[in-house]
Amino acid sequence: MPYLDHNATSPLRAESRAAMERALAIGGNPSSVHGQGRAARAEVEEAREAIAALAGARAENIVFTSGGTEANALALWGGVQGAVEAGTRITRLFVSAIEHDSVLANAAALAERAPGLRLEVIPVTSDGVVDLDALRGLLREGKGRALVAVMAANNETGAVQSIADIAALLKEHEGYLLVDAVQAMGKIPFSASSADFVSLSAHKIGGPQGVGALIVKEGAPLNATLLGGGQERGHRAGTENVAGIAGFGAAAKVATPLPATLRDRFEADLRLAVPNVVIFGETVARLPNTSNFALPAVSAETAVMALDLDGVMVSFGSACSSGKVRPSHVLQAMGVPEAIARSALRVSFGWNSTDQDVDAAISSISQLLARVRSRAAA
Ligand code: PLP
Repeated sequence: MPYLDHNATSPLRAESRAAMERALAIGGNPSSVHGQGRAARAEVEEAREAIAALAGARAENIVFTSGGTEANALALWGGVQGAVEAGTRITRLFVSAIEHDSVLANAAALAERAPGLRLEVIPVTSDGVVDLDALRGLLREGKGRALVAVMAANNETGAVQSIADIAALLKEHEGYLLVDAVQAMGKIPFSASSADFVSLSAHKIGGPQGVGALIVKEGAPLNATLLGGGQERGHRAGTENVAGIAGFGAAAKVATPLPATLRDRFEADLRLAVPNVVIFGETVARLPNTSNFALPAVSAETAVMALDLDGVMVSFGSACSSGKVRPSHVLQAMGVPEAIARSALRVSFGWNSTDQDVDAAISSISQLLARVRSRAAA
């Protein structure tokens, strides 16, 4: 079955499944000092090393979480609270308009509850890239330490953001940087070195769902939001998800930057089949696996269901927000007219995608459009 929804979740890799089975067979609590506990601890630490190597980070800076959502929430809530204790109080929170809901919703809730914290949204260009001049202006306008959240690559359009430039800009001002690298890590070369906080998620690279990590740079303030047994160096209490973490580590070991071959062929064929197709963000650097496009005059719901009947699995908007019948906030922020945004589909390739998947998707889209045209002509 052509599965073209890797940005929602990428199927579990055999290497991850094997590592999870091995870890499950060990049992044992990684905090226990006996042999079984030490074996479980070894699984966790081996995974930590592998993820650190992939992300260009130090293993001791990795805090395992229940996924990308928790990593983003921990950085925001824990960072803002930790800064108060560290004497580096954050008074300004800047989030890009195209962040994942786990950043946007936590930032909004935090700004409501944290006294004296002001939330501002950084606009993006029509191609979905964070507007650096606008950020520069926002940083200059006010006073006080900032926390800036910009994702490494967008989950819907794939647009890659200039993290190095943003980090350089922040050096001129007092501020911390949170980079949601959930979609970038394992797909494009990515280094966590310029950010204070980096969020990761296992299931976007062929690891299991429900496990992720926050990379916390030395010196970055962080208060735990889950208190209890003091695991993860006191940053995140709770017995580690040993099997999940082992699966994450195994996926990190085999992850290699994806080629753009399938995506490029898909878009070339799509243009031939649908000359008036609109491809979002096509002029900027994008994740090599992601194509976000609109088939004019066909609603995304109709298209997703029609393709599904042909066994081709794609998504509209982002999977995390599917079910909500509203145009994507990402396309809105890019100024895409609502009528076009309502037709937006996302195809995302991954480690097990093939040329046949591209053929099946193009054939299903062509048949759908032929039906739509013949109905319109009748
Ligand atoms: N950040 C981005 C950019 C995502 O695409 C997602 C999931 O779609 C998340 C965060 C949330 O990650 P998780 O599903 O592991 O909570």
